[in-house]
Amino acid sequence: MIKKVITLLILFMASLQATQTQVIILLGPPGAGKGSQAALIKDKMEIAHISTGDLLRENIKQGTDLGAKAKSYMDAGQLVPDNLIFDMLFARVEKPDCQKGYILDGFPRNIAQAETLQKRLTDTHQVTAISLDIPDSAIVDRITKRQICKSCQTPYHLVHSAPTVAGICDKCGGTLYQRSDDTKEVVEERLKVYHDQTAPLIDFYRKQNALHSVDSSAPKEAVLEQVLTILEPVQK
Ligand code: AMP
Repeated sequence: MIKKVITLLILFMASLQATQTQVIILLGPPGAGKGSQAALIKDKMEIAHISTGDLLRENIKQGTDLGAKAKSYMDAGQLVPDNLIFDMLFARVEKPDCQKGYILDGFPRNIAQAETLQKRLTDTHQVTAISLDIPDSAIVDRITKRQICKSCQTPYHLVHSAPTVAGICDKCGGTLYQRSDDTKEVVEERLKVYHDQTAPLIDFYRKQNALHSVDSSAPKEAVLEQVLTILEPVQK
């Protein structure tokens, strides 16, 4: 009898997970490795990777109204106003590739964004927030020596994870570039904005029992191992 109840419970849990949409929120300062980890998790779990920074940069590249409005904030290291972010993000999560789940990289960035996201989520969403912890002292070096692929957005560090051929992406052959906001001055402002507006989200998700933390100063493979241990229960 007990065996039967346990089997039914396992089957019930499995069916519940199959119908759930995984929402994985990566928190952490600029340069903590959110983009790198998101790309690795995406490959592993076959869910979408949504970077609000990448979406904004794409808008700037395409010359859209949104891109024109966002650019001055981004160049100054400030957050783009919430109302500009919401439509862009919520249109993206409606796309079919987000049905099974998605990784949010760079969203939410403040409490108002987290609350707005929360209102849109239902019982079918399972939220896991992962804080990528790294001291400020490591950030400036990481960011000022960072290059990113124009085509697939893979990040490189010119010392610790340099591309095989300078200026060329190992993964897709695209051209590498340095982001215009990856300068020492703008990074210092972005860090300040992070501590003022984004770091409070750590407590926000802790209070909801959704928070996990990893040591993100380790090499990216070691960070991924920690992340996958956290995500193991939701992958099943
Ligand atoms: P990121 O690529 O995540 O480092 O973001 C680059 C810049 O885009 C930030 O410094 C902000 O100016 C802007 N940005 C990205 N995501 C958001 C967001 N969720 N809310 C407001 N601004 C954002």
